[in-house]
Amino acid sequence: MSLSGRRKRAAAAAQAKGVEALLVTHLPDVRWLCGFTGSNAALVLGCGGGARLFTDGRYTAQAKAEAAGVRVSIAAKPAALAACEWMAAAGVRRCGFDEAQTTVAGLAAMKQAVAAKAPMFAGVGALVAKLREVKDADEIAKMRAAAALGCGLFERMLGVMRAGMAETAVAAELEHAARRAGAERMSFDTIVTGGVRSALPHGQATKAKLPRRGFVTLDFGVVLEGYCSDMTRTVHMGRAGAGKDGPGERAVYDAVLDAQLAGVAAVREGVATSDVDKAARNVLRAAGLDQWFTHSTGHGVGLEIHEGPKLAKKPEESRKAGATRRNAGAEMRKTEAETLKAGMVVTIEPGVYMPGKFGVRIEDTVLVTRSGCEILTPSTKAWIEL
Ligand code: ZN
Ligand code: ZN
Repeated sequence: MSLSGRRKRAAAAAQAKGVEALLVTHLPDVRWLCGFTGSNAALVLGCGGGARLFTDGRYTAQAKAEAAGVRVSIAAKPAALAACEWMAAAGVRRCGFDEAQTTVAGLAAMKQAVAAKAPMFAGVGALVAKLREVKDADEIAKMRAAAALGCGLFERMLGVMRAGMAETAVAAELEHAARRAGAERMSFDTIVTGGVRSALPHGQATKAKLPRRGFVTLDFGVVLEGYCSDMTRTVHMGRAGAGKDGPGERAVYDAVLDAQLAGVAAVREGVATSDVDKAARNVLRAAGLDQWFTHSTGHGVGLEIHEGPKLAKKPEESRKAGATRRNAGAEMRKTEAETLKAGMVVTIEPGVYMPGKFGVRIEDTVLVTRSGCEILTPSTKAWIEL
């Protein structure tokens, strides 16, 4: 879809919320709508179809080149404030904004910039982020390329990792290879956790050395043309332990892999996101390991490493005594809205983390299709001993 097509859809969504214009300040949203990648940017979408980008003098040439077809205003001040002043002068009376991307101080400054006229600003939620959840063909091609680069890096690391190597050295090798292969940056700080540290779901690479015997978890992603990849593989250094006081390493690995495969198998257009979580979680429950699966099953990926939809447990039923029918209805609508759509790109990443012992996580990024999904990160998930 063209950028102008995206802007039309966002403007229509804003109009349906009863505003005359939409102020977009979240940088990935701005990029998605007009192509601009600068660090100071605000985009005003008029519900009548116009669009104007605000940035500062550092980005004059870049804005003209990237945001083709959009008028550009340059001002030596925060872009959101320049946008608000422009809207006030243009006579906009009601402007939508995303509350989740606006701080209390930011809203106060926006109000001040329009001379505190009437209640001009209306929170309209994450309209643009919601549209971004479903990727178009161009975005899918970019995400495929980023994911393929990630897979190549994992396979390369199998030949690099050895006992005694520092986690930071593993991360350095991986990131250096990523940059040489054209990655703009990493999607997030590379996670390398060896031995007992593999029980930390989000442990970053430290000076700790890879064990002679034990797990190593690699969770990393690269950014290509703005789009993030995300994958996790857990490999074993040396032979697996027998597991004297609890489930052994191989048993836990197999259970996490089964859970991951069940999650992937549950993905299809129209399926509730909570049902994908349940599919993975049930496998770990049957294996007696679900108490150590302490996070949600997955998340959307795109211009941001974590975006919608979230693949998590269903929100607890809040139909306690005294809950109104209206609340129950709102909750039901929210639940209904959380279904997978073809074109979404999500991760499936169950894990088991046994503090003081070890942990295992396996993560793929998948493209939701009508009949199931396409795995964008097809690197092997078979048990590997290095
Ligand atoms: Zn990850
Ligand atoms: Zn992830």
